[in-house]
Amino acid sequence: MQQFSFNDYGAYLEQDFRHRWLRPALLREKLEKYRRFPGLQWEVLGRSEEGRPIESIRFGEGAIKVLVWTQMHGNEPTATMALIDLLNFLTHEDEYDPYRRALQQHFTILFIPMLNPDGAERFSRRNALNIDPNRDALRWQSAEMQIFRKEFDRFQPHWAFNLHDQRNFFSAGNTGRTATISFLAASENEERELTAVRRKSMQLIAGMWRGTQHLIPGHFGRYTDEFYPAALGEFFHIQKVPCVLIESGAYPDDPHRDMARKLNFCLILQALELIQSEGYTRENLQHYFDIPENGKNLFDLIIRNCRLVNGVKTIRADLGFMYQETVQENELVRKLILTDIGDLSYRHGIAEQEGGAVAGELQLDKPAHFHMKVSGKEVQFENGYRNEKHQSL
Ligand SMILES: [Zn+2]
Repeated sequence: MQQFSFNDYGAYLEQDFRHRWLRPALLREKLEKYRRFPGLQWEVLGRSEEGRPIESIRFGEGAIKVLVWTQMHGNEPTATMALIDLLNFLTHEDEYDPYRRALQQHFTILFIPMLNPDGAERFSRRNALNIDPNRDALRWQSAEMQIFRKEFDRFQPHWAFNLHDQRNFFSAGNTGRTATISFLAASENEERELTAVRRKSMQLIAGMWRGTQHLIPGHFGRYTDEFYPAALGEFFHIQKVPCVLIESGAYPDDPHRDMARKLNFCLILQALELIQSEGYTRENLQHYFDIPENGKNLFDLIIRNCRLVNGVKTIRADLGFMYQETVQENELVRKLILTDIGDLSYRHGIAEQEGGAVAGELQLDKPAHFHMKVSGKEVQFENGYRNEKHQSL
């Protein structure tokens, strides 16, 4: 099988995602143009707690069955966007036609984009029952997870890809680099044994990492493997189906996570190549453990060496901020929240700058709202927004 050249990704990028609030109506709109493509079979698998359809898209007639789902947490849209790019690729006609035919012959791929449409509508992790669907894989109480379970039993996948977003503070190991992609081969039991099925997932992850790491060197992380018996990754491994968790994360100057989206696209194709060729069986298990464990080292912004006046006392402190994305009046707003004050010299900012004398009272865990003088210039934060007139981040 031919290999996909990652440089070609741009040709399949679906434009016009203006922000990260990917709601069911927008997803349907984006999917519309692929509906009549003869190589894809569509099915409504069922309806969410609030009656929104949950759809699957099937590609290929091959013997290897692969299940890929996204957005089981409603506010984690990166992989759904990558999946639309992937549909765009699969339905194109160009020099990759032999590649597509090979995929079609070897694989049956079942995509379930947006498993939690009610959460997506609210930009919330949880579903309409306020349940975290990724902790419902023992009791199967929510409509979404009942649909998923039924489909799992019917389809009986050989491989699974569980696609999520992670928060911006995750670093690749104990570094200042963002974990733009993090992997996990979930535990199968409390003892976190390296069972046969886990090893398979780990070897595939090792191959996926080795094949793509040149795209964003040093920006990969690995989750710790505490056993969460009610999580879906654990369920797959207990069922002896290898399951790869991919978490999309931050990258510098990338508020829309376009880099992680590209990586998702490339990683899925890379994984399919490794499965088809059985190249994953030759991967050294140790390479999985070479991926640095996720740290929690990062702030979205650190302003260093600020002068804070408290009565007669002046101290030197760093200010740490995280972006918070919430829906307000039908708009997604992204505000800087001041989350720490103090000595952050051992921490890193995805963006950093030198500070100055702070005017006004600082309030923790609130949208940034203060003025600061830096080299004679006034820098303003108002209600979580930075006044960009003075200096850009
Ligand atoms: Zn998630």
